[in-house]
Amino acid sequence: MADAIPTLANLIRQLTRLPGIGARTAERLAFHLMNAPQDEAMALAAAISDMRSRLTECSVCYNRTDADPCAICGDASRDRTLVCVVETPRDVARIEETGLFRGLYHVLKGHVAPTEGIGPDDLTIRALVDRVRRGEIREVILATNPTLESDATALEVCERLKGLPVTVTRLARGLPTGGTLEYVSRNVLSDALSGRQQMK
Ligand SMILES: [Zn+2]
Repeated sequence: MADAIPTLANLIRQLTRLPGIGARTAERLAFHLMNAPQDEAMALAAAISDMRSRLTECSVCYNRTDADPCAICGDASRDRTLVCVVETPRDVARIEETGLFRGLYHVLKGHVAPTEGIGPDDLTIRALVDRVRRGEIREVILATNPTLESDATALEVCERLKGLPVTVTRLARGLPTGGTLEYVSRNVLSDALSGRQQMK
């Protein structure tokens, strides 16, 4: 039936391109939108259009935002001596969800990936160094992913911050909460062992 209505077929095609949406789900959503009240369907269209047209990048931390500086950089109650370095805006959102971090962020916009031709200068490392040079930042927390390429990226950041009066730390890694020693991989266990913490 969808094929008989070209605009509906087009919507289904667009929805299928979204992550996690298969053909069946796309069809279900499209039919839902076709039958939904006009204002409900138009609100979705307006939200997408609004988000895309207003979205920009924070000139301080490179997070995606609709105001520059972003709400986090502009929040006077946050600790400006602490900067958490992440790869993507999504990582900022994940850390914000914990509610445990009250410092600022710096989004690298990816990681070093030689096979894709992405080198350190394609990231925002230089801007981070400039931020640290301005003197307010006391600690840089590297919260990059625990993968080979991201580890190389973290090392590069650390290297470039050498000689500047700032502490560089990285997130602890190791055993997942709720897991058991028996089932974790050797890599996870060796990370946990080398990152052990003193208890008394
Ligand atoms: Zn910002």
